[in-house]
Amino acid sequence: MNSDAFLDEAYREALEGFEQGGVPVGAVMVRDGEIIARGRNKRVQEEDPVMHGETDCLRNAGVMDSYDGVDLYTTLSPCMMCAGAILHFGIRRVIVGEDVNFAGNIEFLRQHGVEVILVDDTQCKVLMARFTEERPDIWLEDIGEGSVPAPSPPRPRESGNLLNSGEP
Ligand SMILES: [Zn+2]
Repeated sequence: MNSDAFLDEAYREALEGFEQGGVPVGAVMVRDGEIIARGRNKRVQEEDPVMHGETDCLRNAGVMDSYDGVDLYTTLSPCMMCAGAILHFGIRRVIVGEDVNFAGNIEFLRQHGVEVILVDDTQCKVLMARFTEERPDIWLEDIGEGSVPAPSPPRPRESGNLLNSGEP
């Protein structure tokens, strides 16, 4: 399989997630030219906030002695949680489908020595754009922006300022 074929497999995970009503992010881990694990975002399906495509894939791979030579393919630029997991486990190469719908942390990964290949894949972009349009509520929750409290109202001025305001 070539690189694009592996990204296609990650996309298949994303698409199946979408058809399940989930957040359409998929991932596969590849070593020696073979897929060793697959994953997809399961926020909706399993009500699990930490099962992103990448973390689900890492879990499905099980405990590994080493991540040497493991490439992680993901349909969407990794969030900070997943970027942290990539660094934590020492994955050295990440192939990202797109960063248009979510900028993610590509530069952060590069700054930490991870080789990141951004494919800018059309099918990944189209699927995620469709999801963010149809389900902005779930999407904002998933990227950690759904529960941000509204800004508090402006504080009233100190009474002393009020007494003095407007007077010459
Ligand atoms: Zn993530």
